[in-house]
Amino acid sequence: MKEGLIAMDCLFCSIVAGDIPSTKVYEDDICYAFRDIDPQGPVHVLVVPKQHIQSVNAVDDTNKDIVAHIFTVIPKIAEAEGIAEEGYRVVSNIGERGQQTVPHLHFHIIGGRDMTWPPG
Ligand code: 5GP
Ligand code: ZN
Repeated sequence: MKEGLIAMDCLFCSIVAGDIPSTKVYEDDICYAFRDIDPQGPVHVLVVPKQHIQSVNAVDDTNKDIVAHIFTVIPKIAEAEGIAEEGYRVVSNIGERGQQTVPHLHFHIIGGRDMTWPPG
């Protein structure tokens, strides 16, 4: 499928469009951030591009500015959530072995507890 701005039948495109409710944490023209429905820590925010991009595998010269922008937003959200100083984790799962369950690029911001390494 050629990537368009919005993909039909994409959960996160539906959340961005407001068709499925979510708890908004941050929004601008390029990205949308909301609380994960199944939080893996006291703070668990998902940041997604408004444009449908399948995963990190689909990041290229045409959309790299969107990803760079998201990485300027992540520390702002961390600051607002009170976890910037103590530290947190940013995760993007990719494809089947990466355990990606929603095929719309997203970055998990998880914090408020000690992380373990290596991840599962
Ligand atoms: P993935 O497994 O693809 O890396 O991450 C998908 C994330 O989306 C999971 O952490 C899951 O809990 C979250 N999620 C799935 N469905 C919904 C939903 O309807 N609303 C919200 N807020 N989060 C969701
Ligand atoms: Zn999508």
